Amino acid sequence: MKKINEYIDETFTKEDELLQEVRYYIAEKEMPAISVSPSAGKCLTMLVRMTGAKRVLEIGALGGYSGVCLARGFGAEGELLSLELEKSYAQVAKENLTKAGFEDQVSHLTGPALESLDWLNEQQDSFDFFFIDADKDNYENYLEGCLRLARPGAVIVADNVLARGSVADEEIEARKYTETMRDFNKKVAEHPRLESMLLPIGDGFTVSRVKK
Ligand code: SAM
Repeated sequence: MKKINEYIDETFTKEDELLQEVRYYIAEKEMPAISVSPSAGKCLTMLVRMTGAKRVLEIGALGGYSGVCLARGFGAEGELLSLELEKSYAQVAKENLTKAGFEDQVSHLTGPALESLDWLNEQQDSFDFFFIDADKDNYENYLEGCLRLARPGAVIVADNVLARGSVADEEIEARKYTETMRDFNKKVAEHPRLESMLLPIGDGFTVSRVKK
């Protein structure tokens, strides 16, 4: 899996200067190095662009690396709302998105994402693209939260669903979230409101379309 990802990175993705700066700034702030990989980021940009999504919701901002990738996929009318538990992380994400030129198109809501999702539901807000990349124990709850906010035909992407390959390969050491991801994948695959596939990019993306 590592070799495959290195091959994909080398063949298809060159992390540009801006994204390198974003990654360095996150490291400089001593935040964990758990942003999406350059190829996974490029995949997010392409998915947003290909779906024509205009309102994007991200769960788990960290320092804004994936936020920049998502925002790069939409045009001048696009908007990203990013949910993040840690205020200091959201501040770094905001700075990085400002550097990338998306200051006016991005906002952050801080606090537990489940509470933010409930609040957005009360506001009757809706989105056409979702990226789930926060605490894994809540993935199923996030999925349901996203479905409540989804416009017909919306796309929901979730990261880390391969748990470094351990969901599929017993020889790979299980991680804390291996079983959680197996359950999540099964739910996504069988959900009556979703049409889904798993892309083995980075640590694995499920990509689902909300049926109309
Ligand atoms: N999407 C980011 C990227 O690729 O640039 C990486 C996100 S990182 C893997 C997960 C983030 O989720 C962390 O910043 C963490 O603080 C946040 N998080 C964890 N639990 C959360 C919760 N209950 N509500 C909102 N955010 C949470």
